[in-house]
Amino acid sequence: MADPVLPQHARVVVIGGGIIGCSVAYHLAHMGCTDVVLIERDRLTSGTTWHAAGLIVTFGSTSETSTEMRKYTRDLYARLEAETDVATGFKPVGFIEIAADRDRLEEYRRVSAFNRHCGIDVHEISAKQVHDLFPLARTDDILAGFYVENDGRANPVDVTMSLARGARMKGAKIVEGVAVTGVTTKGGAVTGVTTTHGDITAEVVVNCAGMWARQLGAKNGVNIPLQSAEHYYLITDAIPGLSSSCPVLEDPGSHGYFREEVGGLMIGLFEPICAPWKVSGVPEDFSFGEIEPDWERMGPYVETAMKRVPISLDTGVKKFFCGPESFTPDLQPVVGEAPELKNYFVAAGMNSIGILTGGGLGRVLAHWILNGRADVDVTGFHIDRLHRYQSNPEYRRVRTVESLGMVYQCHYPTRSMQTARGAKRSALHDRLAAAGAYFKDVSGWEGADWYAPAGHEAKVETLSWGRQPWFDWWKAEHDAARNDVILMDMSFMAKFWVQGRDAGAVLERISANRVNGPKGTITYTQWLNGGGTLEADLTVTKLDDQHFWVVASDTAHRHVNAWMRRHIGDAHAFVTDVTSSYAQLNVQGPRSRELLASLTSADLSNEAFPFRAAREIDIGFARVFCVRITYLGELGYELYIPAEQAVHVYERIVAAGGPFGLRHAGLKALASLRMEKAYRDYGHDIDNTDSVLEVGLGFAVDLEKPGGFIGRDAVLAKKQTPLRKRLVQILVKDPEPLLFHAEIVHRDGKPVGYVRAASYGHTLGGGSRPTASR
Ligand SMILES: Cc1cc2nc3c(=O)[nH]c(=O)nc-3n(C[C@H](O)[C@H](O)[C@H](O)COP(=O)(O)OP(=O)(O)OC[C@H]3O[C@@H](n4cnc5c(N)ncnc54)[C@H](O)[C@@H]3O)c2cc1C
Repeated sequence: MADPVLPQHARVVVIGGGIIGCSVAYHLAHMGCTDVVLIERDRLTSGTTWHAAGLIVTFGSTSETSTEMRKYTRDLYARLEAETDVATGFKPVGFIEIAADRDRLEEYRRVSAFNRHCGIDVHEISAKQVHDLFPLARTDDILAGFYVENDGRANPVDVTMSLARGARMKGAKIVEGVAVTGVTTKGGAVTGVTTTHGDITAEVVVNCAGMWARQLGAKNGVNIPLQSAEHYYLITDAIPGLSSSCPVLEDPGSHGYFREEVGGLMIGLFEPICAPWKVSGVPEDFSFGEIEPDWERMGPYVETAMKRVPISLDTGVKKFFCGPESFTPDLQPVVGEAPELKNYFVAAGMNSIGILTGGGLGRVLAHWILNGRADVDVTGFHIDRLHRYQSNPEYRRVRTVESLGMVYQCHYPTRSMQTARGAKRSALHDRLAAAGAYFKDVSGWEGADWYAPAGHEAKVETLSWGRQPWFDWWKAEHDAARNDVILMDMSFMAKFWVQGRDAGAVLERISANRVNGPKGTITYTQWLNGGGTLEADLTVTKLDDQHFWVVASDTAHRHVNAWMRRHIGDAHAFVTDVTSSYAQLNVQGPRSRELLASLTSADLSNEAFPFRAAREIDIGFARVFCVRITYLGELGYELYIPAEQAVHVYERIVAAGGPFGLRHAGLKALASLRMEKAYRDYGHDIDNTDSVLEVGLGFAVDLEKPGGFIGRDAVLAKKQTPLRKRLVQILVKDPEPLLFHAEIVHRDGKPVGYVRAASYGHTLGGGSRPTASR
């Protein structure tokens, strides 16, 4: 074969010719960016794509973005052949999800209501109907099935080839047999790639290198904490009567999915406890590769799965296949511009749904690259949600055992990942544990969710969709915040010093509110992009002209950091991430002032220390940065304490708290308290697609401030047109049902939106109080 010839320059270089790289190249070219080169180390599909089962399923997600990507993907694969003359093998044979226990029935009813709202034609069907559609399956123990007639299967290799052809037809160049050896950079931005066949300069590089993406990213300090894991299916000998038009059947309770494959049955598996593969690094020359199956480990799962289609127990196994697939710590893909390096984009870590979301993901990323921001909510899968410690070999080895297993678990609303825990603990962790805290994973931190009273263990016996045994303890914490005073450890919040002669001007430019006003004042603000939609929702405190304190939620940690750094340019301003240096204790509730006043010599009277004041105060032997602000709607203070003095301050507060009715409170209470008062939570009830006006945050925008701010023109333009969607609050009058997320809201019998975030509201007479959008 002649040596491949590379261009010297391309606007975009895509690394990796699996389904994702080809979809990104296809969509870039279709959006008018034809100066694209895709570089594949070996041959297209040689990584993971060649052996995928090819299920094309739109049912199953309560994320609007994921559901839209699935729908788009299915429709694309259905029409692609007409455009490219290369078949995708897409067959809309139908898809059935089985619920064989009460909890899954509850979950799938919730999911199907949301999916229907998003335009997926899913119906609940009886066991008999499941039997009629898939006669080989055992159905006597089934409570219901969920059927999507237009879903089905495709051939992943054919889809990839068809996308590649579509990309080429529009002018993109696809080169096989060339490996990218590095990404070149200058001044914190990408300048091109080096390859085994020469260098290419480029404005944008997209890392779509599948399970190699982590290793490639690490060369440039880009954090992509994915891990490959063993992933299995088996194919039986031919089974008489099994038709190729038989629908795909999925039964998570039996760990398996089932579809026809050349006259036999393909049984795919998602075992609850899985096995990471090659933690130390994926071999560079692994192509069209297979992993030796571990029969002993997988045997019991295979048997359970086979029992769902009993004839398979008596049929020979033609092939037991194991191939590697990439999994991530939270089962969400790794997508977007790396916070470490400008114009370095990533799309990897597909968690076994790279084929069925690949079309949509390619479209989303191409739009993001060409327009500078995404047109869908990306808060759940943005690469900058992930932290560097998650790339540690031990973290990947331990967490991956759980993440693949989660795919087929019941997705209980209050479940937290259980593996790789204890990685980050606040200075107060042991004290909180002794006080009865039940911890959950909060961006890797052990965050107190609720507290068990003395004599009870802080333990979750059974997860469910109903009221948990700790419901009343949660209420007690909530009530203490409304009536007395609570203490909350929020040390996981992201904290930054922003300092320098131009610090105020930089922050003023990126904040929609006026943040560079009087000294000693905290300001709630949003940061917007040029399109006027939300990049961040946080507080900025001005200490003096050259010292500012920025605090954001844990999930926004790296995004906020990168956003600030990218907007400094040549200005004299310096960002220091001091999240680990300061503990944060929130003392909130009507009696918070009395309690704190008993501990400090500082004057906390309303006159001396008004709402939004920020001062250093003394507590015992400690100096504490105290801010009067609330996220739950009561008189309250946030205390930022040097980590080494946190225990001391905590002890003083707890020792003095008794007479004031002080209670520890956790994140459940924070959720119910803040939602009753409509305080927003970025990534939950607001996201990067919302404008400030749509989500009711216009009050925090200062359109008149001198010099303006990023996004101001877009906000002004938005003001001139009627709003297309709105974030509203609703209160469910019936106190019984619990709402969590993605429930559909009807008005006058018509669906008008879905719940983005919800909580029981203990003050509002017991009704659930979700937030909905339309
Ligand atoms: C058993 C099994 C069954 C599956 N079933 C399904 C299913 O039914 N439905 C579904 O949606 N998904 C399924 N998947 C998952 C799906 O296969 C993956 O999510 C998807 O293929 C990932 O695509 P990718 O493009 O990210 O990675 P890959 O296909 O691995 O592509 C990455 C490419 O990058 C290339 N590359 C790496 N490094 C470099 C470099 N330095 N320079 C140039 N090129 C490089 C590699 O050669 C490779 O071709 C399954 C996976 C497995 C293992």
